[in-house]
Amino acid sequence: MRILLVEDDALLGDALQAGLKQAGHAVDWTRDGIAAEVALAAEDYAAVVLDLGLPRKDGLDVLRWLRAKKRALPVLVLTARDTVDDRIKGLDAGADDYLVKPFDLGELNARLRALLRRAGGQPAPVLTASGITLDPATHAVSHEGRAVELSAKEYALLHALMQQPGRALSRAQLEQHLYAWGDEIGSNTVEVYIHHLRRKLGADAIRTLRGIGYVMAKDAA
Ligand code: CA
Repeated sequence: MRILLVEDDALLGDALQAGLKQAGHAVDWTRDGIAAEVALAAEDYAAVVLDLGLPRKDGLDVLRWLRAKKRALPVLVLTARDTVDDRIKGLDAGADDYLVKPFDLGELNARLRALLRRAGGQPAPVLTASGITLDPATHAVSHEGRAVELSAKEYALLHALMQQPGRALSRAQLEQHLYAWGDEIGSNTVEVYIHHLRRKLGADAIRTLRGIGYVMAKDAA
């Protein structure tokens, strides 16, 4: 998933970016509130990890700006201000969850998984569709009960499609999930990864909708 990280502390930001990438996300990192708003206006993120104490514009003001624009993406707030009042202010400004510094990277990733799950309307922690299961906690993927090995980009693409089976995603939307700023994008990489996924998971799992994009078949309820 494509994540926006907003953190002005260089050491912490560096560690968070590495940890989020390690968890399979494409991560853009901005270091102040104005840069965060520019990024949010330009890109389609799955979630935001937002520090509150930021230069140029406070994290709470970024959050209020985002919600005033009716953007519903999940926001996980990071705060050094561990008072009940600050936590209430953050949640009331539109945060979905918060962590108080210092926190454990494993907990941050677990909370993000929970937020992404709820945002995708998926109550179960393990995603299933078309005989495929995908576990965001372990990155394990299986097809008809058989474990399947995927590359990091193949996994990220499959995760995006399985997040909301039945919902078509365009090539541009899938590229948003796969690549952060500075990543090199080939001319037809999404098609290539889809081809690999069909070879590994069966030809029917991911359908092409001409002129629209790709869709994961939805299991009958
Ligand atoms: Ca800060």
